[in-house]
Amino acid sequence: MITVAEALDHLLSLVAPLPTEQVGLAEAAGRCMVAPAKALRDQPPFAASAMDGYAVRAEDAKPGQTLTVIGEAAAGHAFDGTVETGQAARIFTGAPLPQGATRVVIQEDVTCQGDQISIGEALEDNPFVRPLGADFKSGQEVSAPRVLRATDIALLAAMNISELTVTRKPQVALMSTGDELVMPGDTPAPDQIIVSNTYGLKAMLQGMGADARILPIARDNRASLEACFGLAQGADLVVTIGGASVGDHDLVGAVAASLGMERRFYKVAMRPGKPLMAGRMGDAAMVGLPGNPVSAMVCGHVFLAPMIRAMLGLGKTLPPRHDARLAHDLDSSGPRDHYMRAEVKNGEITPEPRQDSALLSVLANANALMIRPAGDGPRKAGDVMQYLPL
Ligand code: AMP
Ligand code: MG
Repeated sequence: MITVAEALDHLLSLVAPLPTEQVGLAEAAGRCMVAPAKALRDQPPFAASAMDGYAVRAEDAKPGQTLTVIGEAAAGHAFDGTVETGQAARIFTGAPLPQGATRVVIQEDVTCQGDQISIGEALEDNPFVRPLGADFKSGQEVSAPRVLRATDIALLAAMNISELTVTRKPQVALMSTGDELVMPGDTPAPDQIIVSNTYGLKAMLQGMGADARILPIARDNRASLEACFGLAQGADLVVTIGGASVGDHDLVGAVAASLGMERRFYKVAMRPGKPLMAGRMGDAAMVGLPGNPVSAMVCGHVFLAPMIRAMLGLGKTLPPRHDARLAHDLDSSGPRDHYMRAEVKNGEITPEPRQDSALLSVLANANALMIRPAGDGPRKAGDVMQYLPL
């Protein structure tokens, strides 16, 4: 049995960054941009008014000053005259500051009569001008690699970048195995249960930027498993769920091997998730997850997520661990790393009282996986523990 760290090393060696493709900006959210993007212009491209008011020369911005309004500048409609001493131009937010003007007096600080304005006593100091290039300068970079968030997309749009180079989405095929399983929405026989793992994993992996498809359920026989592996063709990563223990009905390893899977490892010193297997199968990486619903989801977080990140070109890094103080004492832990379902609240971590790996309701209530290393001794309330956020 290998350690979690060794298993991660093996898993990351099974994958490599995928090729890139071009996408339009409107389709780029959640994609991994691989080449830095460079601003194609300054923003703002001119000194712009930050408010509605009057553009004036700074020396004219004095309480009691009377000025003549000589024109108007609105967003998209520059005023091409020059503001001289004693003059002002009506100006609106986003309009270019006219020649000669160096600041804006907001309309609240002014009284007007015909084409004359006079500046009130409570004049604000703020010049209300956004200098040219205040947001970004032409050539300024958005660094890569990065998974594009909505805020990145807005910035790239302002930079006038309409196409981006991103990593192709990792194609993941998810296969549940078991005679007892039916799909959500179907009518189960009394001895059947509903598939949950493939659905949970699809949601998890899609949220990370992969394309995950759910294969038909493979039954616990060779022919059905072979047929389902056939349907996984074209995937970068094939994930099976269940059928990986040593029971009479656990055929996944044997069938995968007969289809050419070169196994790297089987079994990891981890709770939950011990019967994990992985290897290469043709052009794809293959990971066999345990069937217990919580095990499968925990293994998705711990093992599949770093593989997806590596395929996206985000590097072979492990998810950062966070720290929290233990809410109460704990007995010593067992001989395997234990990823305990837990709740973090106000910097304190409380493991859920029930840790059975079949309890999805417990997992859904948790917001963290608290990590207890193999052989961890008794712990006291207040001890700092590491966890992975869920
Ligand atoms: P196995 O590893 O096939 O022995 O499965 C272990 C346990 O997980 C059994 O109780 C299965 O019924 C259950 N199980 C296996 N696959 C799934 C699945 N895709 N969704 C929900 N439960 C599953
Ligand atoms: Mg099974």
